[in-house]
Order: sequence, then structure tokens, then C-alpha cells
Amino acid sequence: MTAPAPTPIAAVQAAVRVLADAADAGATVVLSGHVQPDADALGSTLALAEGLRRRGATVVATFPEPFTLPSSLGWLPGADRLVHPGGLPAQVDVFVSLDAASTGRLGGLAGLLGSAGCSVVVDHHASNPGFGEVRLVDPHAAATVVLVADLLAGLGVELDEQLATCLYAGLAADTGSFRFGNTAPGTHELAARLLRTGIDHAAISQRLFDTAPFGWLGLLSAVTGRATLEREVGAGIVWTWSTTAEARDHGLATDQLEALVDVVRATAEADVACVFKGQDDGSWVVSMRSRGATDLSRVAMALGGGGHRAAAGYSSAHDLEGTLVELRAELARAL
Ligand code: AMP
Ligand code: MN
Ligand code: MN
Repeated sequence: MTAPAPTPIAAVQAAVRVLADAADAGATVVLSGHVQPDADALGSTLALAEGLRRRGATVVATFPEPFTLPSSLGWLPGADRLVHPGGLPAQVDVFVSLDAASTGRLGGLAGLLGSAGCSVVVDHHASNPGFGEVRLVDPHAAATVVLVADLLAGLGVELDEQLATCLYAGLAADTGSFRFGNTAPGTHELAARLLRTGIDHAAISQRLFDTAPFGWLGLLSAVTGRATLEREVGAGIVWTWSTTAEARDHGLATDQLEALVDVVRATAEADVACVFKGQDDGSWVVSMRSRGATDLSRVAMALGGGGHRAAAGYSSAHDLEGTLVELRAELARAL
């Protein structure tokens, strides 16, 4: 295995310069992660927001509509200060996009890329096409929070428990608790720095990964019970589906659909695991995971989405069967 290339220092320095100037001027900085934010998107947003606040900036942290915080993330320090995108200031000096692989992933906030005085994009998706004025995009970074840790260091903001809790949540989530191939020596070094601040990493992990309402077991049973294995498609595919309506039938918030793929992806006979998540408008949001043989970033990009080699996603306006037909064809091509 070759060591991952270090984050280009020049890209970090350019972003630090913009953010430090904004903080020194007391400018208004708006920060947002991607739609339906995960721990990396929110952890990045909240940590950088707090760091910039400490440096003197006027900071507004938000995320795109639907403005619903998953219960697994509502406890993150600073989450109570998140502002609805409808309540943003008219004049935005700097807009910072975090963990968003494309402008589309910013939903209704994408317009800020053009209307803000300056836009800074901080991301680690292999599929990022390059957008925004100042780009700190590093596909070798295990999580966007890794890049935010670099920015905080550049801004001279010292890590404490509050910041480290946000950063650790993103780091643990995007590395699968340091199990995935994106984990490098530097990942553990950052984790060590975060742990030294005194964070309760066991409590963070329990809240993120090991907490769900009892109803989730019923949903899991239904969803795994209808899983289908198709060994002949690509390097093998296992797929299943659920819907936002089914989650509600089990007394669950719809974000409880997100963890299902983590169970399905254990299937040894299939390189690719897919969970099709039916939305209220009839569209399907697709979560894909690879055990290593398939580059899902490319598959997802071909289908209008994006992501990483091992974890990617996209949305489909077809019905479930049409979505499957299209995906099977793309997976066959990917090999
Ligand atoms: P998920 O299955 O939602 O956990 O997403 C897996 C990975 O793919 C994450 O890094 C997402 O940010 C990324 N991803 C999911 N959907 C999209 C999309 N429509 N466009 C770009 N990236 C996506
Ligand atoms: Mn994310
Ligand atoms: Mn991420």
C-alpha cells in the first residue's frame, strides 16, 4: 500500500488566508454541509463555525432544507445554534461549503456560491468536479473534518473538548470507526490529538453507531428479510429497499433508514451492497457500499450522483424496477 499524498499545503494556506482575513474584519461567514447531513458534514460545519467565532468572525452555521437534524447528531456541541436556511443574513461575506461533493448537494444553498463575496469549498469526495472560488478538496483525506482540523491549526485555534467532539464524530463516522481503507497513520494521529482533549469517545461512538429506537429492530428485520442476492451482476450485488413511509410505520424518523446499509454490506457473496430508500415524492435515494472490487464513485457519477470508491450514492426518478435495471447495467460496465 502506498502512503496517501499529503493534503496540498498551498490549498490549506489559501483557505486559511480567506478565513483569517474574514475573522480579522469581523465579516459574516455562513457555513453549510450537504443535504441530509451526516456526522462529517455537521461535525465539520460546527467545528469550523466555532473556531471562526472564537477568531472574531460573525458566524452562521446552517444546512440545506429539509432542515431536520437526525437524532443521532442533535447532541453535537453547537447544534442548538444551527440556523434555518430561511433565516440567513442578506449580506454574506464568505460562504463555506463542507463535505458537499457537488453544488447539487447544497440544495437551496447552492446560490450562495455565487452571491457571497467569496466561496470556500472544503471536501474529500473523489467525485468532486471542482467548484467554488477557493478549493480545499483532497480525496485522500479520510473525512472533511481532517481538513477542518488543518484549517483550525492554520487559524491558530487550539483544540478543546467542544471542537474535538465535533471533529471526532466526523472522523469516526467516515472511517467506520477506523476500519475502512481510508484510515491512514495520520488518521490515528489526529484521533490521538482529539482524545488528548479529554473527549468521551465511547459516548460519542455509542450515540453515533449503537443507539436506535426499539422500532429499528422491526424495520431491520423487514428490510433484511427481503434482501436479494444477485451473484451474476458485476462482482455480485446484494440489495434491498425500504421507504420513508415504512420507517414511520415502525414509529421511526426517516433518517433511521441510513444505517441499514451498514448491515447489508456484510454479505460475503456480493461486492456491492445497495439500499434503495423510497422518498415521499416517489423518487429513490440509493446508498451503495463496495467490499473493494468496484469503484462506486464512478458508478454513482454515471447515474448523476457521487461519493467515494467504497461508498457512494445517487437519486433516481424511476420506479424501483427501473432503478435496478439502470444500476445493474452500470455495475456490469464498471467491472
Ligand atoms: P450515503 O449512502 O448517503 O451514506 O452516501 C455515501 C457517500 O456518497 C457519502 O460520502 C455521500 O456524501 C456520497 N453521496 C451520496 N449521495 C450523493 C450524491 N447524490 N451526490 C454526491 N455524493 C453523494
Ligand atoms: Mn457526508
Ligand atoms: Mn465525508
